[in-house]
Amino acid sequence: MKIGLLGGGQLGLMMTEAAYKLNIDVVILEKNKFCPASKICKEIIYSDFSDIDALSYLGKTCQVFTVETENVPVTTLKFLSKFGEIKPDINCIEICQDRLKEKIFLENIDLPVVPFSSINSIDVIDNLNENLFPGILKTSRFGYDGKGQAHVNNKIDLLSAFKELGKVDCIFEKKIMLDKEISIVLIRDSNGEIASYPLAENIHEKGILKTSYMPCNLTKNLSLTALNYASRIANKMNYCGVMCVEFFLSNGKLFVNEIAPRPHNSAHQTIEACDCSQFEQQVRVCANLPIGSTKINGNAKLTNLLGDLWFTNSDEIPTNPDWNQYKKEGITIHLYGKKEAKLGRKMGHIVEFTKFNN
Ligand code: ADP
Ligand code: MG
Repeated sequence: MKIGLLGGGQLGLMMTEAAYKLNIDVVILEKNKFCPASKICKEIIYSDFSDIDALSYLGKTCQVFTVETENVPVTTLKFLSKFGEIKPDINCIEICQDRLKEKIFLENIDLPVVPFSSINSIDVIDNLNENLFPGILKTSRFGYDGKGQAHVNNKIDLLSAFKELGKVDCIFEKKIMLDKEISIVLIRDSNGEIASYPLAENIHEKGILKTSYMPCNLTKNLSLTALNYASRIANKMNYCGVMCVEFFLSNGKLFVNEIAPRPHNSAHQTIEACDCSQFEQQVRVCANLPIGSTKINGNAKLTNLLGDLWFTNSDEIPTNPDWNQYKKEGITIHLYGKKEAKLGRKMGHIVEFTKFNN
């Protein structure tokens, strides 16, 4: 069987590695010739997600389709669905690619989210409730790693931020105090069977994930609530595949932040720490294989290697970091092979793993 994968970034790379381990082929559609997956994937169609010829070829070659990013146009997914199943289903990706649709969906299934308002015009800003300040303006679509966001304290700043972001559809969220940020990755198969990894605690810097600890230190009660919320999301969406739910813990209460309809950065450490990685799970669900064991075998700390590491001297020309610093027992390094290092760009990650003594 062949899986058609939309996107050849680092998630596509790790998904392809997992598929090859199971002797399953992957055909990737991706426009960047130097994408991370290009180093290992045996078949990549270099094209835009909207190229009908490329999509027809992918459609005829593969039996099932999946994504490494939520930012695949719905028209692309609809076209591919004539050839085979999309996992997760189009409606799940459609909800998760739009922050406003996502928040409304979450409210409709009675899950707690931070107070928010849709911002699609200057008039809306004039009439906005003052209680939402200070807040964060976020573009509804295409934001990631804190991009497409602006922190504002009042209506005047909000107006200029809205203009700065190009007056595209946005949501405005009240900024809340965070005790902790946590995430859960779960897998739901086509029979509705659910399994999940232990929760991870995530430390962000400038809106970008810096480190993630799995398992994390959280009360039994909150852990169960997080799993319960994530399962409700997956069941209501009739979700099929790997999904991550990010939470805020504020004043002891959990709020759903966002949903990723794909493997997630906060669970890359499942490669080293768990019986079966999140990438293998995505492949398994695509191939209709039973969900693998999510058992964790030790403590894992993930640290993202951002492009900033390439610019540690005052030079403007990027230079490779000293990799010797990571040559220690229990440390695994993953480099994605991105062509150019940029500030804030995820270039790779390391995992520090310590086996439980039992
Ligand atoms: P992204 O898609 O870029 O991950 P998020 O909505 O998760 O977007 O925001 C990135 C980070 O910004 C969050 O992980 C959190 O640290 C901070 N943040 C986002 N929204 C809020 C909020 N309403 N209150 C406080 N912090 C927030
Ligand atoms: Mg996030």
